[in-house]
Amino acid sequence: MGKSSLIKPVLGVEYPIISHGKGVFLYDAFGKEYLDGCSGAVTANIGHGVEEITKSMVEQAEKVSFVYRSQFTSDAAEQLALKLSDLTNGDYPWSFFVNSGSEATETAMKLAIQYWQEKGKPQKNRIISRWMSYHGITLGALSMSGHPVRRERFTEILESYPAISAPYCYRCPLHLERKSCGLACANELEAAIRRIGADHVAAFIAEPVIGAAGAAITPPDGYFQKLKQICEKYDILFIADEVMTGMGRTGKILASEHWGVKPDIVTLGKGMSGGYTPIAATIVSDPIIQTILQGSRVIMGGHTFSANPLSCAISLAVLNHLTKHNIAERAAIAGVYLKNKLHLLEQKYSFIGDIRGKGLLLGIEFVQNKKTKEPFPLVASITNTVIKLAMEHGLLLYPAAAGEEGVTGAAIIVAPPLTITEKEMDELVSRLEAVFEEWSEKHLLN
Ligand code: PLP
Repeated sequence: MGKSSLIKPVLGVEYPIISHGKGVFLYDAFGKEYLDGCSGAVTANIGHGVEEITKSMVEQAEKVSFVYRSQFTSDAAEQLALKLSDLTNGDYPWSFFVNSGSEATETAMKLAIQYWQEKGKPQKNRIISRWMSYHGITLGALSMSGHPVRRERFTEILESYPAISAPYCYRCPLHLERKSCGLACANELEAAIRRIGADHVAAFIAEPVIGAAGAAITPPDGYFQKLKQICEKYDILFIADEVMTGMGRTGKILASEHWGVKPDIVTLGKGMSGGYTPIAATIVSDPIIQTILQGSRVIMGGHTFSANPLSCAISLAVLNHLTKHNIAERAAIAGVYLKNKLHLLEQKYSFIGDIRGKGLLLGIEFVQNKKTKEPFPLVASITNTVIKLAMEHGLLLYPAAAGEEGVTGAAIIVAPPLTITEKEMDELVSRLEAVFEEWSEKHLLN
């Protein structure tokens, strides 16, 4: 085979060529087996190679794969929108389909701004977000993202800046004790709104459980309720970015359900298709769409491939599979099992500072010293070393940056397909232990 001309995320790095996948396992062209401990990018929620899904692909492709959304709708797109509405108890009767999580958050941002325009308040156009957040790689989504590494090359052209601290209790950014903090990080939203002026703020966006920028940082009870109250007090829309957390990942269909909070707009991606096709969605509560219907009636945000019947049919098959097999409920139970096993590793290894997360979105943060929580320097090289070693041991893990270099820690996400069995979780943990053994012997002790 000639030299590859495919542009890869890190140039010069050799990636194994994948051959096929089944359940929680992937196999490369040399037959090496990998246990998918992170569902790719926390995406392959129902596992690999599910026949029901591949059948749905063929069935839809034989009918029609593509129609343009401004000329036609399709049964697949209509049914998918209804399915999402049903799954969310009718709270989001409107769906806008796009191709990636970044587009879904961009769409949410635009819908929020447009909502206020239609209400005669065009100056209400700023979005507040949090440090330690990731909402996507396109420039609008990146503007809202508090992910220093992904922002740094583009800061000069980003439109706005995250304004408030994350609920990172393990290393409270406000240096407060959890018991007495009074949820000061949530109260920062009120201060930020007042500073900017409520008349200039369209929405607040947050991931219910922070993924790529924090490795499963889970807020304390009361935090999201407080944020929602503040949004209501100042007439600001609440957007939940559930691209990573949505569709069962944390043990509920939407992670916001854990705290009984109903956002005005929700973004979905990843698990919505389980990786079987690129599709994402911005699902929207009725008042927002009614306002637009009574106003301009136009939503400025379509993409060529939006709502294409093939992707919609595949996503619908994935979500039907999810409900038929109670996969969200299973993820809640499996998550407890796996987290307990990770806590056993925490007791064994001095470099594990924190285990956190909900359902099967779990994070491990590494420290040089458990007591002082002193972080490792060179966060990226630590996570990369662990991830590379894990690949050698046949285990896939997802890198996450917990905050800023030198200030906060190196961390990884453990998030296998939600269909993983106990036996497979035992195998995952045994491979992880082998990784940690080798890491501590060969890397940390030298
Ligand atoms: N929002 C969240 C919470 C994410 O985790 C991601 C991706 O990791 C995105 C948005 C962007 O999604 P995509 O990579 O599909 O553009």
